[in-house]
Amino acid sequence: MKVPLLDLKQQYQSIKTELDESLIRTAETQYFILGPQVEKMEKEFCDFLGCKYAIGVSSGTDALLLALMSIDVKPGDEIIVPTYSFFATAGVVSRLNAVPVFVDSDPVTFNIDPAGIEEKITEKTRAIIPVHLYGQSADMDPIMEIAERHNLLVIEDGAQAISAVYKDGSKCGTIGDIGCYSFFPSKNLGCFGDGGLLVTNDERLAEIIKIKRVHGGQPKYYHKVIGGNFRLDAIQAAVISVKLPHLGKWSEGRRKNAELYSRLFIEAGLSEKVGVTEFDRSNRVLLPKAVYKPAQVTGQMTDYHIFNQYIIRVEKREELRDYLHNNSIGCEIYYPIPFHLQECFADLGYKKGDFPVSEKQADTSLALPIYPELSDEQIEYVVQKISEFIFSN
Ligand SMILES: *Cc1c(COP(=O)(O)O)cnc(C)c1O
Repeated sequence: MKVPLLDLKQQYQSIKTELDESLIRTAETQYFILGPQVEKMEKEFCDFLGCKYAIGVSSGTDALLLALMSIDVKPGDEIIVPTYSFFATAGVVSRLNAVPVFVDSDPVTFNIDPAGIEEKITEKTRAIIPVHLYGQSADMDPIMEIAERHNLLVIEDGAQAISAVYKDGSKCGTIGDIGCYSFFPSKNLGCFGDGGLLVTNDERLAEIIKIKRVHGGQPKYYHKVIGGNFRLDAIQAAVISVKLPHLGKWSEGRRKNAELYSRLFIEAGLSEKVGVTEFDRSNRVLLPKAVYKPAQVTGQMTDYHIFNQYIIRVEKREELRDYLHNNSIGCEIYYPIPFHLQECFADLGYKKGDFPVSEKQADTSLALPIYPELSDEQIEYVVQKISEFIFSN
């Protein structure tokens, strides 16, 4: 049996007529960049996410970069980020000659550990970028509380978490000052190329984001500020508009798959070995947990986790990955090296051992196929192969 890590063709087939018609209609308008199609999509997101302003941009990375540019981050400013995330979260900070300041992860959720934030705040700190990694909300209450107390801005990296919900019912990305999303094809809501979105409830920020999205001219060709080309294509907005109404159903599919994985791992007696257990208070979804620090597991999470990734944690991770690949099962290591150990950040002076939780996560995590169209048989096959590997090693 073949189980790819992701198969977008199945999703395309399921909405092909709708999508093709929308692409042709967009071609007929010959309106390529921003314009009515993008505005329509932006309005749909305001309704969907419950926020005042949504601004379509060229990618998730550009959404983060533009967010930092919109709050006027200056060289030498410090931005607090988790050390364990996709590269863009920290890369955008350095691109503005600001300094990413790293914080270790929560051992259960992989997200930034709020307990590590406050000690990193200096008079140069401007903002915190929590990431809702793998589709699960970061713990936003303490983060917002710290930010308020120290007068810092909060920019949420929701690239993997569009439609995920934090415990109080707010959509991830709408809790802080600015939320950033990605429409990269492998995200839960992907377009046909690169695309992204910023959201905010702050009128002034929305205004400056829109101005800086197109080089900073206001009016056109008159520049008080410097922006860039962060524009979104009409065709990408058309794709997203067609897909958005299906997102809820797809998220439910991912959650159902996650639940089946976790149940099968527990039944196979593997839950400790792959770092999975049952602890979601709503008793609906079984969430991956840390293998090495079970005492940290509490009943605090009632988030709506949308499983952009389903991550297990295993000791012989590379061997298991090879074994699964040899059995036609797709899997991937996200992310093998935390920021503080990346070569490009060597001048920041961190060393191995500075953030033990993230380092352990980087050494042991493995993402399994979780896309909504997976069949139960495919999931059973994956668990069976993992079981074979673990019991023979
Ligand atoms: C994908 C991703 C980004 C960047 O999005 P792109 O659209 O690929 O530029 C940023 N942060 C996180 C956490 C991501 O997963």
